[in-house]
Amino acid sequence: MTAKFKANSNLSLAQKYNPLELENEVRAFWEKNKTLKTISEYREKNNKKTLGYVEGPPTLNGIPHVGHARGRVIKDFHFRLKTMQNYAVSFWAGWDTQGLPVELEVEKTLGAKNKKELIEKVGEERFVEECKKSIMKYHRLWVEADTLLGMFIDHDKAYFTHQDRYIEREWQYLRRAWEQNMLGEGHYVVAYCPHCQTSLSNAEVGLGYKEVEDPSMYFKFKICGKESDFFVVWTTMPFTLITDLIIGVNPNEDYSRVKVGSETWILAKARVEPIMQELEIDNFKIDETLKGKDLVGTKYDYPFKDLIPKQAELDQHPLIHSVVAEDFVDVTTATGIVHLAPANGEDDYAAAQKRDLPMFAPFDEQALFSEDAGKFSGYFVRKTDSMVVEELKDRGLLLKIGTVKHEYPTCWRSHHKLVWLARREYFIWTNKINDKVMEAAQKVKYFYDSPKNRFFSFLKEGKPWCISRDRVWGSPLPIWVCEKCGEKTLVASKKELREKALEFPNHDFELHKPWIDRIVLKCDKCGGRMIRESFVLDVWHNSGASPYARFTDQEFKELVPTHFLTEAVDQTRGWANSLLLEHIIYTGKPEAPYQEFLFQGFVLDAKGRKMSKSLGNVLEINKLLHERSADITRFYFMWKCSPIDSMNFDPNELKGRPYQVLSTLYYLHNFFMQNAKYDNFDPKKHTLQWAIKEDALNPPDMWLLSKLQGVVREFTVMAEECEFNSALSKLEDFIVNILSREYVPMIRKDLWSDDPETLNRRLAVYSTLWYSLKTLVLLSNPATPYLSEALFQTVYKLMDDSL
Ligand SMILES: [Zn+2]
Ligand SMILES: [Zn+2]
Repeated sequence: MTAKFKANSNLSLAQKYNPLELENEVRAFWEKNKTLKTISEYREKNNKKTLGYVEGPPTLNGIPHVGHARGRVIKDFHFRLKTMQNYAVSFWAGWDTQGLPVELEVEKTLGAKNKKELIEKVGEERFVEECKKSIMKYHRLWVEADTLLGMFIDHDKAYFTHQDRYIEREWQYLRRAWEQNMLGEGHYVVAYCPHCQTSLSNAEVGLGYKEVEDPSMYFKFKICGKESDFFVVWTTMPFTLITDLIIGVNPNEDYSRVKVGSETWILAKARVEPIMQELEIDNFKIDETLKGKDLVGTKYDYPFKDLIPKQAELDQHPLIHSVVAEDFVDVTTATGIVHLAPANGEDDYAAAQKRDLPMFAPFDEQALFSEDAGKFSGYFVRKTDSMVVEELKDRGLLLKIGTVKHEYPTCWRSHHKLVWLARREYFIWTNKINDKVMEAAQKVKYFYDSPKNRFFSFLKEGKPWCISRDRVWGSPLPIWVCEKCGEKTLVASKKELREKALEFPNHDFELHKPWIDRIVLKCDKCGGRMIRESFVLDVWHNSGASPYARFTDQEFKELVPTHFLTEAVDQTRGWANSLLLEHIIYTGKPEAPYQEFLFQGFVLDAKGRKMSKSLGNVLEINKLLHERSADITRFYFMWKCSPIDSMNFDPNELKGRPYQVLSTLYYLHNFFMQNAKYDNFDPKKHTLQWAIKEDALNPPDMWLLSKLQGVVREFTVMAEECEFNSALSKLEDFIVNILSREYVPMIRKDLWSDDPETLNRRLAVYSTLWYSLKTLVLLSNPATPYLSEALFQTVYKLMDDSL
């Protein structure tokens, strides 16, 4: 960085470009001179404008790898670029330290199978302590990675999402939502991870689609009052027959009655042939075709009334176990008839709500079937798949059981298959503000269309946000409920808690379970005892609160909306989304907390495979940077491809072109220094203006300088537009081709002579080189800060102490 600061440098320009050595020296130089601090302080006082930045906090649950480094390099590039343009940027670190990812890491360390086992084993207090230990362990590794990468992010001003101060400010978002009637309790079908034993938000569901194997089951439901007429249905989730309440057809499509032996089967006309083939039935005949709507109201004989007494009761309801019409039923797949289990599916739930059907959700708190599920009670839902298959077989209703591979949502953290369950949860009713959300999102600059479209199509879904989690290590949901009258209250600060407390076990307490659960409040309405809802908050709510929670009120006013943020493209469903929603709730305005958002592509291994522990191809960034140059790695990240493309990271490529570009820049300086020193070149005296006045510039110099002007212009525009790869290609071309391969050979023989007569000509060449190389060093500083700093200190500062 080239702000004016006192240099007391022991750096020198070695003969050989040895990047690792050079970077160690520069790092020591930065530390000794407190360069980052000096620059920040200088920029705070001297700037043309302040640009807000809030760090997308990495989760401290694992070792940083090259996938993380790409984003960090881009962030640092942007910071350095803007700082050089005289902006002050609040480039302060931040860490995501709570939630499932951290808990699962601790579960692993402590050798527990799941949450329940863990809490039984160690208790909540010890669990929380272990979470804190775990995050600090990873914090050290992340700080090391930032230091090695040469990131100028301010770690002294870092925020941690588990700190009380942060949580109290996060709660202010909830207070706003509460005041606007946008936060409340609801029974709703939510995605549930059986391993993590908690529900997930809609956004989280989208983070973990994977190809999985499931049962593929064809079965039939007998039509009531007919001896041998059946509906044919297909499902991949046999367990949902336990909560089956209705079956759906598409009202406007054709359905056929098909003679199969002595039976009549009903299914979508378009599906008769393929299904018969699938079931290996050659002998069948279409009897009659009718519209879906003609089937509506037909009752079917729910097969498990004897096993589930509650279902026998429900069967009395005229609509339960009958055919309903739904436009979402697709007749181009399966049988064109779907069975609907409102407690286990979102569409199913909506269909039941529309018809005012009684809810049948026989699950307990741990997502096991409850008493109401009769024979199936006590089992985890998916565990009953095979039981259901057996029961259908016994009743002669099973047509075929096989397996199917399909894309199915899995837990983004533990990779277990999710199930949908009707549960009592807390929601922010973000569906109510969807217009504002879309309007706010429109105003943001995304640089590229494809991630923008991805973001918008997700936002358009506009579903309510399930924010409650049945976990331990997270920001607590600050809602207390009266045991006596059911009154609810939201408390959003420690001070308020103290004032309202009936029982306050500890003066020195932190805003976490289990301590916060011991606080009993007094009910305003009836004086009764109020107990906290034991949920913690979705970790995405936690990090999405950062614009308000990490700053002071004053900083929030000055720095938000922030200027430029960048994260990986999966954050369309993660942080970019929660930031947006929370900011709109907080301000009430259709405005995003960021003006620009660059979504980056993922980093893959050299062969284009996802990096994963199981493949053993994860490249830890610290290990890499102990052996490889940070500058060259940084250059490679930004130069190899567009920031939105997936990048195949191949360490062998670092030695190729990226090394060549940087070493050429280095050796050009060596070449310049050797010659310029010999002729006593003085940059303060022998400026370009001087050379022009002396008429000492030749056509090659003019050509080089005009090329340089073009490069500066294009580089700047491209860097601003996040076309980093194109910007660096311009630099590459100028350094390697224009300057080194073309210009230097043209002027070399001018430098061979030591004739005093031609001294002015030589000095003019030096002034051209001085000006061009210095410009290159400044341009490349955001990408390769070590080399730039080293050259700046050992060449430019050395020769011109006014810099
Ligand atoms: Zn999970
Ligand atoms: Zn009360």
